[in-house]
Amino acid sequence: MNATEKLIASAEAHTAHTYHPLPVVVATADGAWLTDVEGRRYLDLLAGYSALNFGHRNRRLVDAAKAQLERVTLTSRAFHHDRFAAFCSELAELCGMEMVLPMNTGAEAVETAVKTARKWGYRVKGVPAEMAKIVVAGNNFHGRTTTLISFSTDPEARADYGPYTPGFEIVPFGDLTAMRAAVTENTVAVLLEPIQGEAGVLVPPAGYLPAVRELTRERNVLFVADEIQSGLGRTGRTFACEHENVVPDVYVLGKALGGGVVPVSAVVSSAEILGVFRPGEHGSTFGGNPLACAVALEVIAMLRTGEYQARATELGARLHRELRKLTASGRATAVRGHGLWAGVDIAPAHGTGREISEKLMHRGVLVKDTHGPTIRIAPPLVISEDDLDWGLAQLDAVVR
Ligand SMILES: *Cc1c(COP(=O)(O)O)cnc(C)c1O
Repeated sequence: MNATEKLIASAEAHTAHTYHPLPVVVATADGAWLTDVEGRRYLDLLAGYSALNFGHRNRRLVDAAKAQLERVTLTSRAFHHDRFAAFCSELAELCGMEMVLPMNTGAEAVETAVKTARKWGYRVKGVPAEMAKIVVAGNNFHGRTTTLISFSTDPEARADYGPYTPGFEIVPFGDLTAMRAAVTENTVAVLLEPIQGEAGVLVPPAGYLPAVRELTRERNVLFVADEIQSGLGRTGRTFACEHENVVPDVYVLGKALGGGVVPVSAVVSSAEILGVFRPGEHGSTFGGNPLACAVALEVIAMLRTGEYQARATELGARLHRELRKLTASGRATAVRGHGLWAGVDIAPAHGTGREISEKLMHRGVLVKDTHGPTIRIAPPLVISEDDLDWGLAQLDAVVR
């Protein structure tokens, strides 16, 4: 066995098999590139599912983390610390909102949004006790907790984890008629990914998000946008909702907010909505810790310039122009996405998404399949044009 095989065998012997990773063992990383334990280099076209929008070990983010490591790393929320106010106010400002509730992982932030919507429903909207309903979309991915998988439509994500949390209504993504029919007096929120990432980068029909916005406003229902994967530059805007000129009531953020350095997530909303919480009613030991705040503050500063969004737009046009050639020649059956983000359905004759991912790995390019024929492409926004072109040339070669 070589070093790679030994490390994989050992990992498989001692880890629950909740993932089926590609057989590559990463040792170091820089920008858009990874190096494995045998010294082979790979172009990263997944970017940690958008957690690495600013690339691996981005200099500004590593420097911010190092500086904070020398000051204070954790206080818990029992005390204030000197990075907290800036993190909350600057994140709220970036979102055009007023208040922030910091957590760590994406799933925790979505859970927090669910609790926010329910509490708002009972305290502000006046929904009768225990009656609150949240409308969600089929094929959603919001995280892995027992409540969040309760309204998943993916059998793998959901099977054998019951009893399931009640209070959710599932409608097909993009179907406004179904959404309208599902909203009742007791609906407190509509929870959607503006573009569904795990489902294969599914973009809803034009006009869907604005119509949901209008419906939720009319019916006094919160519009909660899970922008954990779609947000923070990926699609060429700070938020994917901006493509449709939609401002939700609540943003749920994660992944890139931690700059690929530490897990940072947050719920961001108005003072009226997040103002429903009182001390003791929600919390997190690590949420909003000094190290997380220091890194996220740098992420916010980088997003404020607009340069990463512009880069995603520019490189995204290049990405989608190349990928359209695959559909035009019948090698892909569909290409979806926005900005530097694409879901590509490979024509069955060329292999499954997994097989394509393995072939790409052997050519030094890392992507990940989602469902069956689909691969997802989400390079770090800092990737160079030449590297992107080279990566796409490898994809072209494996489907020839
Ligand atoms: C990744 C993701 C989550 C869950 O985030 P974790 O940090 O893995 O808990 C939730 N929603 C969306 C849209 C995601 O892409």
